Amino acid sequence: MRIVALAGGIGGARFLRGLREAIGPQDEITVIGNTGDDIHLFGLKVCPDLDTVMYTLGGGIHEEQGWGRTDETWSIKAEMKEYGVGPEWFGLGDRDFATHLVRSQMLTAGYTLSQVTEALCVRWRPGVRLLPMSDDRVETHVRITDDQGTRAIHFQEYWVRLHAAVDAEAIVPVGADTAKPAPGVLEAIAAADVILFPPSNPVVSIGTILAVPGIRAAVAAAPAPVVGLSPIIGGAPVRGMADKVLAAVGVEATAEAVALNYGSELLDGWLVDSVDEAAVAAVEAGGIACRAVPLLMTDVAATAEMARAALALAERVRG
Ligand code: GDP
Ligand code: CA
Repeated sequence: MRIVALAGGIGGARFLRGLREAIGPQDEITVIGNTGDDIHLFGLKVCPDLDTVMYTLGGGIHEEQGWGRTDETWSIKAEMKEYGVGPEWFGLGDRDFATHLVRSQMLTAGYTLSQVTEALCVRWRPGVRLLPMSDDRVETHVRITDDQGTRAIHFQEYWVRLHAAVDAEAIVPVGADTAKPAPGVLEAIAAADVILFPPSNPVVSIGTILAVPGIRAAVAAAPAPVVGLSPIIGGAPVRGMADKVLAAVGVEATAEAVALNYGSELLDGWLVDSVDEAAVAAVEAGGIACRAVPLLMTDVAATAEMARAALALAERVRG
């Protein structure tokens, strides 16, 4: 079985760890990772979502935090601060810096982001094929209004520095309209037996991947069933501020609104948490098969159970 999953950072990575447990030795997972969160810091190219997937599946993640390296130290950051060089609000530890140095060095030498990602994965052995959504630069920006007026800021500044405390008025994946899917992305979607949307952010993770021209159409046209898992449980994101970016695109933070926003052109099946049982009828009325199952990724075993439920729903809708 060839499984394709679109993934953001923490939600996507944790789900993939469960999915990897749930499949057989012959099955293959191709991950199409969001690169709209990418940012240039200290002259380095940082790809937070690709790295979260790579570290989580490769055993190098800081478990409690969900991002960054385990047993991290912060000497470089402290030294930069002594020079008065920021930003201070973005946490890049010493071990993590090495990843960004390798990536930036390879990009400067002329390798593509796909090639760099493959090279980094030689070390991490994530057990999946990890493809960036595009080799072209895409950066999500958020329009806000505060005491400095109305302006667009980088998504990371909105998310990490401002903690999404200001309303997002618009979300723009800058560069997406002229970006091309990375090599292998459209081929993997077309050849997939199952396509999964993990419980990743529907706007700034999955939505950004789908904004790369060709990807949405490829998913919609794929012969494989497409099944998603809700990142919203009981009317709120399990973790983070997805409600703020959903509001920016006019979508309610509920499991059913997120499913209906993807729509039946994209989704064949949708899993909601058991507490959202009441949402099942509304999702099914929208032409999307829906089941209510526990969706909290408390540990790998519980997450693998979610993955099995998603694969079972895919088999059901395959007919
Ligand atoms: P990010 O790039 O690090 O923000 O990660 P993703 O976009 O992949 O995923 C973020 C989403 O994961 C958030 O909207 C959370 O609500 C969701 N999430 C985190 N933990 C869980 C969980 O245990 N269960 C479910 N259903 N969703 C979760
Ligand atoms: Ca992200």
